[in-house]
Amino acid sequence: MTPASPRATAVRVLTSRTYGGGAAPASSLTGAGNARAAARTRGRRSGRALLPGGVGHTVTVPEGDVVWNTARRLHTALAGQVLTRSDFRVPRYATVSLTGQQVTEAVSRGKHLLIRTSGGTTVHTHLKMDGYWRIQPAHGAPPARGHQIRLLLGNAQWLAAGYLLGITEVIPTAREDQVTGHLGPDLLGPDWDQAAAVARLARDPDRPVGEALLDQRNLAGIGTWFLAELLFLRGVDPWRPVGEVKDLDALVALGQRLLEANKTRPGHTSTGDTTPGRDSYVYGRAGRRCRRCGTPVKRGEQGPPGQERLRFWCPRCQR
Ligand SMILES: [Zn+2]
Repeated sequence: MTPASPRATAVRVLTSRTYGGGAAPASSLTGAGNARAAARTRGRRSGRALLPGGVGHTVTVPEGDVVWNTARRLHTALAGQVLTRSDFRVPRYATVSLTGQQVTEAVSRGKHLLIRTSGGTTVHTHLKMDGYWRIQPAHGAPPARGHQIRLLLGNAQWLAAGYLLGITEVIPTAREDQVTGHLGPDLLGPDWDQAAAVARLARDPDRPVGEALLDQRNLAGIGTWFLAELLFLRGVDPWRPVGEVKDLDALVALGQRLLEANKTRPGHTSTGDTTPGRDSYVYGRAGRRCRRCGTPVKRGEQGPPGQERLRFWCPRCQR
C-alpha cells in the first residue's frame, strides 16, 4: 500500500534558514537549571542584540513537523513489510541485523523517530541538526552520498536511507520510555494534551518563555524556527518570564496549529507564503524590517551557558 510514492518526496526540509557565525544550536533540550539567572540578565538588551544580521551559512534544522512527515513517509514505505535489508553504519550497531523482521510502524515522538518491528525491536533515530531520510526504489542505483549514510532499511520495494542522523540506536520496544519518556506532550501526537503542556510550562514562572517553549520536557516538537515565529505572532518577547505571558493557553494552541499546518508540506511557513525569503516574519531576518511595523528585526542568543540558541524578534511588536 503506497498511495503516494515516498520517493517523490524526499524528506529533507527545503527551507533555508540563516544562522549567524555564533552559537550553533546544540541540543533540543535546554536545562532548566541556570535558566532563571540567565533570564534575569536579559543579555540581549546589551551586546547580543548588536550581532550583525543576515550573515552566516544557511542550514536546515528539522523541527517536529519535519519529523512527523518523515515518520509518515517511512511508515508508508516500510510498515507491513519484511525487511530484506538492514545495514547499520554506526560502530555500536554494526553487527545488528533486522533482516527478516516485519516493520510494524514508524512514528514520531516530538523530534524523535521510532521504527518498530514485529520482533519487539525499535530503531530510535533523531535528526538533530543535519539528519534526513531519503526513500528510493529498492532496485535502483545505490543511494547517493554513501559516506553520510548511518542506516539503511529496505524491503522488496523500497530502500530507506538515513543520512547524518544525530542518534541511531536499537532498543527493545518495551524500553522506549528510556529515550522518549522525558518528553512533554507531543504537539503532533495523537495524545496531544494542551492543558498538560501549559501546566508544565507554568511550573517555572520565572523562566524566559523562549527557553521554556524549546524545552522538550514541557512540550515536544518546537525548534528555533517555530519558536521565533510563534512568539512574533503572539507579540511576546522571548525573554518575558512564563508567568508574565498573558495567555499561555493561546500561545501553546497557536504553536500546535502552526506545526499542524506545516506537517504535510516541505519547508515551513508562518506567513502563508512558502517562497524562500518570504516564509517567515522574523526568523532569519535579522536587520531587515519587521513585516508588520518596519522596525529592524533583532537577533540574539538565549539559553543556559553552552546551550545558547538563536532568537529573532521584533523589539516593537514583541513585549
Ligand atoms: Zn514589528
